[in-house]
Amino acid sequence: MNEDQINAGRRGVLKLGSIAVVTIAMGSQAAHSLAQDKKGGGGNRVDEKDPTAQSLGYKHDATKVDKAKFASYQPGQTCANCQQFQGKATEAWAPCTIFAGKEVANKGWCSAWVKKT
Ligand code: SF4
Repeated sequence: MNEDQINAGRRGVLKLGSIAVVTIAMGSQAAHSLAQDKKGGGGNRVDEKDPTAQSLGYKHDATKVDKAKFASYQPGQTCANCQQFQGKATEAWAPCTIFAGKEVANKGWCSAWVKKT
């Protein structure tokens, strides 16, 4: 192997290295936007008029729940202290396992409420 071949080899390795760096950077970028999508960014909230939300009596504000229709509601019950709430209790909005792909308000409530354990 002569000097040129060695240098060409080195260039190849460097080139491969740069591609790897770019690929890793793109990968982390994609993971980052996925994480942001998961968080919803406020654009994917459950609509109170959504048929599932209506049938479960979901309200963004638990105090507005129709207590006559949803007698299981007890003051103090909110999404923030529900087992189905997928965020920290301090997060204003987070996904709920009942409303796949949608976020619910931490002060919200629906009749599928289960005490967080
Ligand atoms: S299941 Fe729990 S977290 Fe989900 S909307 Fe109902 S009360 Fe809120």
